[in-house]
Amino acid sequence: VDDQRRCEGQTKGGTRCKARCQPGKAYCFFHDPERAEARAEARSKGGKARSKPAAVLPGETADTPLESVDDVKALLGQTINQLRKGQLDPKVSNGIGYLAGVLLKAIEGSDLARDVEALKQQLRELEEEQRAEPTR
Ligand SMILES: [Zn+2]
Repeated sequence: VDDQRRCEGQTKGGTRCKARCQPGKAYCFFHDPERAEARAEARSKGGKARSKPAAVLPGETADTPLESVDDVKALLGQTINQLRKGQLDPKVSNGIGYLAGVLLKAIEGSDLARDVEALKQQLRELEEEQRAEPTR
């Protein structure tokens, strides 16, 4: 390899870079001081984007009711609109979506338990009526 065309940069280990120079330059792509500046800038932009806090509703936002299926439907509707406006981070709205699903199952479960209890009560009343008027 023509030594003149080898990059003048150094590796992390302190040895001379074995890469070829870019045309008309004394350094390879990775050791080019001009590019290093652009890279540092890109890194700092990326760092800023990465460290930007997730969008969430303000802390003083009132709690939303979560008792009924209709409450959960209202919450999901709000969440979709907040997500569309960028007021909520997608990660936050994903969490809301997941928890809303769990909540719906719990609400449906307790609705079902209530229905079963009402049916048992009706059955007991029917049995008492039948005992009150015995068949002849
Ligand atoms: Zn190099």
